Amino acid sequence: MLKKILLLAVIVIGLGFYKSQAQTADEITAIAEGPKILVLNYHQVADKTAYLAVPPDDFDAQMKFLVDSGCITITPDELYAGLNGEIELPPKPVLITFDDGYLDNYTNAFPILKKYGLHATIFVIPSFTGVYPNYMNWEQLKEMEANGITIESHTLTHPKLEELPDDEIRSELLNSKNLLEEQLGHPIEFLAYPTGTYNLHIAGIAQDIGYKGAFTIKYGVVDRGSNFFALERVPIFHSPTTMKDFYERIAWRQSFEEFGWKKR
Ligand SMILES: [Zn+2]
Repeated sequence: MLKKILLLAVIVIGLGFYKSQAQTADEITAIAEGPKILVLNYHQVADKTAYLAVPPDDFDAQMKFLVDSGCITITPDELYAGLNGEIELPPKPVLITFDDGYLDNYTNAFPILKKYGLHATIFVIPSFTGVYPNYMNWEQLKEMEANGITIESHTLTHPKLEELPDDEIRSELLNSKNLLEEQLGHPIEFLAYPTGTYNLHIAGIAQDIGYKGAFTIKYGVVDRGSNFFALERVPIFHSPTTMKDFYERIAWRQSFEEFGWKKR
């Protein structure tokens, strides 16, 4: 009799354990099924033969494609809040980003973004702002910010951060943040690493200084498994078949999920 009771107890406890494991698995699945955010990365929008320059006509067609596909453009703050579960993101969230702050972002990309009512984020190099003719000036940045564009930091002088001593990494990240905040009058909390390179040490300094997140050029989709200081992006380049490449890059991003691709 005692043996039977013991056996029953083992079965009941065992079933309870199995159930709690199953619930945990469900919870994990729910986390994995959180928002997926496509972050596009552009540099120049210009009619020239350069890898980093997407022709304006192609850029226009790409923006139209996003709108026609029902994508909703979001800000870095919304990405952050969405991943933290503080807000609900739209069904197809896209963050459009530009690195470096080239003048053609203002002359060529901005009118197209306005035409479609799209939001975008530009990571600028504030020591270049208003200094070099190929880069935007402060008035242009302010005008864009008044019209749905967010400006964030791409460091003060665009160095290869991993080659710098700690005090210089710190000054690149902090001085760019301070200068942009002074000029634009709002907190600067997001960073794009120059040339996309970073390591845990640099990420730690960025976090220390008060950044909330940093973008890389690691190819992939941002979701709850992403590291806030190593956020993935999908770079868009100019090639003889820019549009075909664009569609393929977006499609590959979707196929990550279809094939059960995991980032960790
Ligand atoms: Zn750059």
